[in-house]
Amino acid sequence: MLDKIFNALKSYNNKINEVEYQFYKEKKNFVEIYERNRFLESEIEHRTNELNQANRSILALSNILDTMNSSEPLSEIVKKIVDRLSADMGYVYAMLFQIVEEDGDSFLKVRAVSEGEYSTNISSILKKPVELLKIKSDESNIVSKIVQNQEFDFINNFEAVFESSNMELDEGQKEKLRAVFYPKCISLLPIKTQDSKFGAVLVVSQRKEITETEQNFLKLFTNQVDLAITIAGLFETIRNQAVTDPMTGLYNRRYFSSYIVQEVERSSRLKQPFSLITLDLDHLKQINDTFGHSIGDEAICTIAHVLKKNARNIDISVRFGGEEFGILLPGIDSKGAMVAAERLRVAIEKESVKEVGHVTASIGVATFLEHTDNIDELMEIVDQAMYRAKKNGRNRVVLASVEQKESWTEIAFDTLREILLSPDGELSSRIEPDIKKELEKFFDTNPKELTEKLFQLSDDIIKRYDPMHSEKNSIKEKIHLASKLAKEAKLDEEEIDKIKLSIILYDLGNLFVPEEILLKPGPLNRKEAYQISQHPTIAVKQILKPVEKIQNIFPIVEHHHENWDGSGYPGQLSGEKIPIGSRIIFIVDAYCALISDRPYRRAYSQEEALKILEEGSNSKWDGNLVKLFISIIKQ
Ligand code: GH3
Ligand code: MG
Repeated sequence: MLDKIFNALKSYNNKINEVEYQFYKEKKNFVEIYERNRFLESEIEHRTNELNQANRSILALSNILDTMNSSEPLSEIVKKIVDRLSADMGYVYAMLFQIVEEDGDSFLKVRAVSEGEYSTNISSILKKPVELLKIKSDESNIVSKIVQNQEFDFINNFEAVFESSNMELDEGQKEKLRAVFYPKCISLLPIKTQDSKFGAVLVVSQRKEITETEQNFLKLFTNQVDLAITIAGLFETIRNQAVTDPMTGLYNRRYFSSYIVQEVERSSRLKQPFSLITLDLDHLKQINDTFGHSIGDEAICTIAHVLKKNARNIDISVRFGGEEFGILLPGIDSKGAMVAAERLRVAIEKESVKEVGHVTASIGVATFLEHTDNIDELMEIVDQAMYRAKKNGRNRVVLASVEQKESWTEIAFDTLREILLSPDGELSSRIEPDIKKELEKFFDTNPKELTEKLFQLSDDIIKRYDPMHSEKNSIKEKIHLASKLAKEAKLDEEEIDKIKLSIILYDLGNLFVPEEILLKPGPLNRKEAYQISQHPTIAVKQILKPVEKIQNIFPIVEHHHENWDGSGYPGQLSGEKIPIGSRIIFIVDAYCALISDRPYRRAYSQEEALKILEEGSNSKWDGNLVKLFISIIKQ
């Protein structure tokens, strides 16, 4: 029995052994298959990576080849190279240096940097854009060395690159740079052109090591970069030698500039005039905005076409750039040039541009030896004439004149435009869009209506800080009274114009005074009074200062609140030390205020107002001027 059981157990055990053996065999097979699969998988992954890498390499190379075939300027080419390296090749950062010689020293200048997180990081660590780096290039500098020896270098030590550049970095900056670049492989690739050592590319890889295949690729890539840069350089040389503008075929500014020098020399020697016509296409911005830039280009080409068609063989037609053109007419005086210019104007007007219809141009004319015998002045006055053609309503010809002066109204408009339309000007935000729109349209204003328009606009501006502003103290009225008083005081035209201009501008400082002070019904406390007293200074020092051409009225504006006895503000000037324009404005301003309603009192009658002025004679106001003023009002 025991035997039976034992045998059964034995055979059972054998079975188990057999099953186990089978199982083991299967498992071994299974493991083998599993291992093999894994091997294949990794092999596939490896090959795929290689393929991807090769693909990207080919893509990068072919992009560089495309770049070589384009005629883009050098700056675009170098930018493309670093972009290719980071976008197509997956490097985290690429930077291209050029060796430049300046004042006998050699520098490494960053010509292009790839975009992205790394660039931003590095710029913020260095506290300036990487693009602005200019590093002294000497023996100790790693990058300079590879350029000098034209040898590739693959290193892991980014810090060494920065250390060797002699840039002044503090410990904090170095620490941050270490954190950014540790541990990454840096490839330094020298670039040469046909005839010089150009510079180097620095490429930062994701990985710690760079395989030989990758190194080979980078070398190949660099060869292509050498070629691309050589070709771009050649294009640039050729472009610099060009005398015509590619878009229109007219002469370019560079050629014109050298030509006019010869013409001036010839004209002076033979005592024979020559004329210069300049043209500016009207409303090109609007054409661009409405119909697109390419239609804008067509409008430009239309003008060029008219110039070519109408020019004599010896005339030099030029596109100065953008929408500005010129014609130099040898041997032609101003009379002849005016006829030619008018013919051009009509011819342009007759042409039609696709979608837009008719276009026009504003034209200036000036003649050498008639208007000036100085080349710079000639360019200047012909420009002024053209500008005047714009101001006078466009699509017209204006002849230069040496004593051509801007009217005070034009200066006032120009000034208001400069201080109120400038997007970064502080006043711009305090002015209603309606007023700005009016100012923008100022060139379109009929010259006859210019003055009225200016008065109206100025009154609208004053209403921003003085809601009770009325007819009685309108700008028109003040200018009328001030001119009369100035004439009675025997001031000349020029001085009177300065006063008129000052009246438009002297109170703009109030735009900075808080409304609650301006409109306060009761008396002002000291702080408020001080704030008010600052408005003439604010007008000059903050608002008008950038406007070069009105500097001569600054004293008038600044001192229009000085009292005759020296108790006024802001300079406590007294008597005749106060500019006469300021004294006149002070009287007129006071009178107009007295006869108007104020938040804190009713309007005075004319007689009452004059009496107040009389009482303030020689303390507040200039007594002689008050006398003259009273007689004017009484008339
Ligand atoms: P104005 O009558 O006062 O001369 O007005 P405008 O719009 O012609 O002059 P503005 O100086 O305000 O604008 C000139 C515009 O011309 C702005 C600029 O973008 C455009 N422009 C400059 N060069 C070219 C060009 O080559 N092609 C095109 N389509 N537009 C250009
Ligand atoms: Mg224009």
